[in-house]
This record gives sequence, structure tokens and C-alpha cells, in this order.
Amino acid sequence: MARIVVVGAGVGGLATAARLAATGHEVTVLERADTVGGKLGRYVHDTPAGSFHFDTGPSLLTLPAVFHDLFEATGAKLDEFLDLMPLDPIVRHVFPGGMTLDSCADPAEFAARIGAALGDRAAADWQRLWHRAARVWDASHRHVLRRSIDSPRDLAALAWRLGDLAAIGPGRTLRGLGRAHLSDPRLRMLLDRYATYTGADPRRAPAALVAVPYAELAFGGWYLRGGLGTLADALLTRCLDLGVVVQTGATVTRIDAAGGRVHGVRLAGVAAPVPADVVVANVDALTVYRDLLPHPRRLAGLTDRSLAGFVLLLGVSGDSGLAHHSVFFPGDHDAEFDAVFGHPGRGVRARPAPDPTVFVTVADDPMIRPAGHEAWFVLVNAARQGTAAGAVDWRRPGLAEAYADRVLDVLAERGVDVRDRLLFRQIRTPADLDAATGAPGGSIYGTAGGLLRPANRGPARGLWLVGGSSHPGGGLPMVTLSAQIVADEIGPAW
Ligand SMILES: Cc1cc2nc3c(=O)[nH]c(=O)nc-3n(C[C@H](O)[C@H](O)[C@H](O)COP(=O)(O)OP(=O)(O)OC[C@H]3O[C@@H](n4cnc5c(N)ncnc54)[C@H](O)[C@@H]3O)c2cc1C
Repeated sequence: MARIVVVGAGVGGLATAARLAATGHEVTVLERADTVGGKLGRYVHDTPAGSFHFDTGPSLLTLPAVFHDLFEATGAKLDEFLDLMPLDPIVRHVFPGGMTLDSCADPAEFAARIGAALGDRAAADWQRLWHRAARVWDASHRHVLRRSIDSPRDLAALAWRLGDLAAIGPGRTLRGLGRAHLSDPRLRMLLDRYATYTGADPRRAPAALVAVPYAELAFGGWYLRGGLGTLADALLTRCLDLGVVVQTGATVTRIDAAGGRVHGVRLAGVAAPVPADVVVANVDALTVYRDLLPHPRRLAGLTDRSLAGFVLLLGVSGDSGLAHHSVFFPGDHDAEFDAVFGHPGRGVRARPAPDPTVFVTVADDPMIRPAGHEAWFVLVNAARQGTAAGAVDWRRPGLAEAYADRVLDVLAERGVDVRDRLLFRQIRTPADLDAATGAPGGSIYGTAGGLLRPANRGPARGLWLVGGSSHPGGGLPMVTLSAQIVADEIGPAW
């Protein structure tokens, strides 16, 4: 049995803790915030009409099998804890001009919907791309997503072996893949969007990310009744049932790693070290390497930070008739990516995109809002917090309020005017996400390297990295797979 300290109670940290406790280890989770869940955050707003419950982070659960596996590995059934509701449409895409296309988890039906909305040629294009995507998914699922990658060299060697990834062309971007396969610009927009699900610009992201829409559209998109935050509750319950000690309000300031192996961690305001044989860091990999190790290290080659998000939480009166998820696309996608990522090489600074893609989630769930009202989660892609050319200083006085007004104006221009039905609005900028979860600059997915992420094996013996900024990447299912990889590598206590 090893004494294991998990730093951070995000989904990756909790999932690793539960798996390790189920295999006999003595596990303590140390979390700096006063709640668990990390980016899977929640916010409750009370009004005279009643309470509004918001998810402040994820709004869509994909690859439910990964979560079933997790609960089973800890000796429980997911259905006892969570109420999964399949979505159809998974996403309603609203293109410039108002044309809509609803995605669903039945490939033939989705192709038929594409045909009806965009024509037969677009449907045939999509089906060709879909076959290619299936092969990429299969290869990456078998060889990348479920195994540990210890170094960029490992990944390069692996990519070489993966015929399907190589067939797509190691140098090809997701944008390039869309151009090669999809004649309709609206379908190309739809494909581009998935790069941002890994924090990346589709013009630079690898074509292999076509596996992301495949996962969503082959296995479905799901909502959890009561909100996605119920996943954090379920994981916490599972951890506590298995004897994990979960300490909130505990900020780790240092990982002790003298002599090339971990000995424990240091907590802010506590003189005595917390001893450990193994440390699993669920904080951003950049923070681990730069701030928590005794000697700062560089994450070689992984300097591109992921995008962040600008979020509005809206209490709305009445019934808007919106789908669960809607994506309102802009007229000029590239102008949006230029604004969000900037282009320091060309002297283009990042800025709030004046005409962004707007994601709106309105769950039809009486548990999260008073009768006759809706709780809206509105998200636009945004540059991370900072003062460098590729970032935006969201703390600049007046900027967040002005941009919130702009986002609501954009929605109104695209046919959804909610401004006169607002009971309240809450703004969450990238700076707020940084403050709440410690994600540097509010970058949602750590680095934006596509397939290439910091390894799970840390630079000292007994140190492991888990979560969205390390292999295999961000998003709830990837983070949960990351926990599986790390728990398997550490192995059972017996
Ligand atoms: C706006 C938004 C929308 C998203 N939408 C989706 C979606 O629809 N679907 C999806 O699957 N994913 C989505 N994601 C991504 C998903 O939320 C994340 O990938 C996932 O929750 C990250 O989990 P993690 O394990 O990396 O930990 P994190 O959530 O990053 O948690 C890390 C934890 O470590 C703690 N911590 C940090 N520093 C310290 C320290 N020094 N000491 C102790 N504790 C520390 C933090 O407080 C935090 O609790 C979204 C994220 C955001 C922000």
C-alpha cells in the first residue's frame, strides 16, 4: 500500500483517487478551493422567483462508456449516482443567414439531415469524411487514448505506426482536412469548431482531431439531470465511500522531490510537510513544472496555450424554445480565430472577438430553474488572461461588461434577443477561471498541442500528472481516461 497524495480535486484528481483507493491505496486529496470539481463548476443564484442552478463549465457529456468504466472499477454502478439523458439534437447549428442543422448520434440520420439542409453533395462529402474519421478514432482510441505516452518521442513513434493517422498526413491540419473533403463552407465551419474543443485553432490543429466529432456523433451527447456538476458530487461520494480523505481549502505550494523522487508536498500556511510515496498532480502541467517542483523546468515544445472562454450565466423569464445546445456561427470564422489566438508573428494582438461563435445551453430541467424561467449558459471562445500579444487583459475596467453587452447584441443579431427577458446576468472571464481553478490564464485545456500533451509520468520518480493539461487531453472523458492511465501505471496496492 502506498501513501498517495492527489493535488487537486478536479474530475481527473477525484477519478484517480477513487480508482487508487479501490485498489487498496491510502489516498488523500488536497484541494485549494472550498469545493471539489475544478472546472466542472457550479453557481446558484437565488431570486424571489426561486433558485437558478448553473454549470459554469462543461455542458455536454460524451463517451459515457468511460464513466461507466470508472464507476465499475470502483465497485459501483454509475446509474445509482447519475441520471444520463441523451440529447437529440446534440447540437443545433445555426449558420449565417439562419439555416439550421441538428446533429444526432445516428450517422445515417445525420447524413439525411445534412442532405435536407445543405444538399446531397454535402451529405455525400460528410459520409466520406465520416469513414475516414472512424478509422482515425479507432486507431487513436486503441493506441493513444488508453495508454501512457511518456515523451514526445513516444508519440512520434506511435504516430508513425498508426497507419490511419499517417494516412491523414502528419502535417495536415483539421482545416486542411475540411477543405479536402467538404465542399460546403458550413460543414467546414462545423468541423473547424471541434478544434476549439481541444483549445486549438483549426488552422494549426492536427487533422487527427477529426476523432473528436466522431466520438460525439458516434456515441452521443448527454446531459446529466440536475446539471453536469452532479458528476463532481458522485465522484466525491465515491471517494469518501472508499476511504479517501478529501481536504478542501488546502493549497499545495511545493512538491518535495529531492534526489529525483517525490517525498510529499507542502501546504500553504502549514509548517509540517505532508509525506507521500506517490504524488498525483491534477493541477495544470505548466504550474507543476514551473511553480511546484523545487527547480522550475520548461515544458519543452509545449508553449502554445489553449484558448479560454468568456461565459455569461443568465436568468431568463419565459420560454425561448431553444434546443438544449445551440451554436450560432459568425459570418467570418477566421476573423474570430485571429482575434482569439492573435498572431504575434504578424503583429496581430489577441482581442475579444467582435463577432464570435456563440454557444448557448438551455437545459429543459425543472431541477435547475424556477417554473416559467430558464437558466442560460452562454459561452464564446476567448483569448486567455494576460498582457502578452496572444492574451487579453480581461481585468481592464469596463471590458467584461462591455463584451457581455456585445455578446448579447450578437445573439440578437442572430435572431435570439434575450435582452428584455433578463432577470440577472453573471459574467465569468478567463481571469475568473484562473482565480477559481488555478488554470493559468484561464486556458481551458492547458496546452493547445492537439495530440501532443505533457506526459502522465512526471519528471521525478513517484510523480504523475493527471487531467486536461496532460495526456490524453482535456474534456471530461479524456480527463477520466487520463485517471485510468495513471491509476493503471501506479498499479494496485496488493
Ligand atoms: C467553460 C468551459 C466549458 C467546458 N465545456 C466542456 C464540455 O461541454 N464537455 C467536456 O467534456 N468538457 C468541457 N470542458 C472541459 C472540462 O471541464 C475540463 O477538461 C475538466 O473538467 C478538467 O478536469 P481536470 O481533471 O483537468 O481538473 P481541473 O478542473 O482543472 O481541476 C484542477 C483542480 O486543482 C485545484 N488546484 C489547482 N492548484 C492547486 C494547488 N496548488 N493545490 C491544491 N489544489 C489545486 C483546482 O482548484 C481545481 O479544483 C469545459 C471547460 C470549461 C471551463
